[in-house]
Amino acid sequence: MLAIRVHQLGGPEVLQIDDIPVPAPDRGQLRLRVEAAGVNFIDTYLRTGLYKVGLPFLPGMEAAGVVTAVGEGVSGFHLGDRVATTHAIGAYAAETLVPADKAMVIPAGLDTRTAAALLSQGLTAHFLATDTFPLKAGDSALVHAAAGGVGLLLTQIAKMRGARVLATVGSDAKAALAREAGADAVCVYTRENFSEAARRFTEGRGVDVAYDSVGKQTFEGTLDSLRPRGLFVSYGNASGPVPAFAPLVLAQKGSLYLTRPTLNHYIRTTEELRARVADLFAWVAAGKLKVRIGATFPLPAAGEAHRALEGRGTTGKVLLIP
Ligand code: NDP
Repeated sequence: MLAIRVHQLGGPEVLQIDDIPVPAPDRGQLRLRVEAAGVNFIDTYLRTGLYKVGLPFLPGMEAAGVVTAVGEGVSGFHLGDRVATTHAIGAYAAETLVPADKAMVIPAGLDTRTAAALLSQGLTAHFLATDTFPLKAGDSALVHAAAGGVGLLLTQIAKMRGARVLATVGSDAKAALAREAGADAVCVYTRENFSEAARRFTEGRGVDVAYDSVGKQTFEGTLDSLRPRGLFVSYGNASGPVPAFAPLVLAQKGSLYLTRPTLNHYIRTTEELRARVADLFAWVAAGKLKVRIGATFPLPAAGEAHRALEGRGTTGKVLLIP
């Protein structure tokens, strides 16, 4: 079968297409015929070596498709079931293995591509808005990169919870998408000062919470956007990781709180994972949460997909289609 493999760390060109044997599921695993694989920023961090992984490796963790084999000890799944996951062992492939306890049956009304597009970024938006800072009516939230995969979903969930959202985006076209997702105000932060926008948005006070996935380039400005004792949620590094800083800066900026959360710690049990996914599926079914698939690429063009994502050329979700 065709699969993307990474034999050495580096740029998008290291995403190489190889012909490898179809894997057999181990105990507790399913095998899926991949209909769509989600492209996520974390795939680029693994490819470059920012996050550590052994070589060679099979990139891609998010997939949706059809069960083609069921490993020993698995119950509740059958050949032909449509399933989605954020824990595929090499989603950029014609077929992939998945731990059964991380597989979700896709509801009948939901198409497979939308399921592939929803899970990683939807689960992230879900935990950020409901647990890292449980948003409530009237809270003010700064959402960076609001036209991106996580950003569009986070903006919509924040609005569902009654919060006021100041979105930042890199272009006017992205601003229109953030507004459509419900943002109350939008700042094109490539040409406007977003900390000043945050002050204006809150009558000088500063926002209650800032969700920052951009990292290095926005760190200082995000600190300056928060109210005293506000929460800085640093959850990504799209522009590079935040450099080391002295905790004293948090006192100087208003006794701020800072957290660096990651999805796996918010889906630690199968129950927690399934409860969050159930919310996402229900919101999509009810038409409350819209999933935007901004681009699809054929599997061999995985490098092109990474280039687009890292080059700020995408909106919503990017999918690879085997
Ligand atoms: P996005 O679709 O949001 O793409 C990244 C966006 O970041 C770009 O479109 C761009 O939007 C913005 N950006 C700003 N500066 C840069 C830069 N220098 N280079 C590249 N992009 C830049 O990606 P995802 O939705 O997949 O992920 C969003 C973030 O969420 C990532 O940082 C990712 O690591 C993080 N994440 C964290 C998780 C966690 O568990 N902590 C889980 C999932 C995702 P614009 O042009 O509008 O600025």
